[in-house]
Amino acid sequence: MTINKKQIVKIAGTLILYFCVNTSYSQKVDLSSVDKFIKITSNLNDGKQISAEQWNDFDKSTGYKKYAESENKFILNTVQESIKMVFSKTKSTEIDIILGISKDSIAKNIKLMFEKRILTNFIDMNKNYASIKSFRENYDFNAYVEKSKQRLFTFLGTTADSSFKFKTVYFNCMDAEGGNDEDAVYLDFNLVYKMSEEQRINFLAHEFFHNYREKFENQFRRKCDLNSGLDMIQNEGIADMIDKTGGYQDYFTSALHEPELARIMVGLYDQAQEDMEKLQRVILKYTKGEISETQMIDKWLEIAKFNGHAIGCFMANQIIKAGYKNEMIKSFYNPYEFYSLYNKAAQKQNIFQFSDELMNYLKDITKEYYR
Ligand SMILES: [Zn+2]
Repeated sequence: MTINKKQIVKIAGTLILYFCVNTSYSQKVDLSSVDKFIKITSNLNDGKQISAEQWNDFDKSTGYKKYAESENKFILNTVQESIKMVFSKTKSTEIDIILGISKDSIAKNIKLMFEKRILTNFIDMNKNYASIKSFRENYDFNAYVEKSKQRLFTFLGTTADSSFKFKTVYFNCMDAEGGNDEDAVYLDFNLVYKMSEEQRINFLAHEFFHNYREKFENQFRRKCDLNSGLDMIQNEGIADMIDKTGGYQDYFTSALHEPELARIMVGLYDQAQEDMEKLQRVILKYTKGEISETQMIDKWLEIAKFNGHAIGCFMANQIIKAGYKNEMIKSFYNPYEFYSLYNKAAQKQNIFQFSDELMNYLKDITKEYYR
């Protein structure tokens, strides 16, 4: 059989169409790391050894690749060690040591917190292993992604922006977290499994908010660490209004089942006003040349823990309480507007307000970027 030119064009066209359909389909969600995780842990549960090739395959899968490629192997090593500890037949004494790490230690040391949270998460997965596998096989992940996008646009009070291409959602098995990274949105599989349908939609809509906001962001946040920190407070604060409307206590206990983390986050939320005052002092000292930029950033990181989540969430809550929700959402990518709205709300409620000096400084550094 000979194939003429017209047929070749037709075949090529079909192939292109096939690949387009295929990529747009696969671009929504990627579960290959979860599948590798299940494969390895099933083998360990059956008492089998894991070959170097299997680990290599695991490391290269989409949800773990960036940790494998990173120079610092702390995360990847912790994932692998935790898998071995939890799913191997031989019991490890290390488990009790890690589970015994105190709340104070994890609050101070992010590495210890990660080690404990990932181990706790894997122990939890091991307990619900059969139903987690069934969830992987039966849940409609593509529909989940679509519902989360809809939730975001409902929150923003706009019709869906069909021209915007959201990042692929990469599932992996880590600590109970989600994140909007450069290449994809990363979600912990067990966390999504454990959540109610409403919680999980809100959880991904939170990450999609960060993803969508990038469309409106400009050089302001990339210019220096201070700008990035100021921007992050608004970014996380508004995003928390999507999935943490019931407050931190409720979220970290009912969605995450992590009472220790709940206490840490609630503590930070309760001291938000003092922390805002501290941040203000540090920024003003820096603007007057009393401390260097590095000193200012070091202090900033000490005060605004977890990307300034608690501070941003507190500010957004006050803005909503004072009745400025629509204004906050309309300017969701403009940090100066967020700090101004907070101040208006704080004045009404007679709580901590940023000084005129600080507000003038913020106006000054943002004005050329936002009109
Ligand atoms: Zn966030």
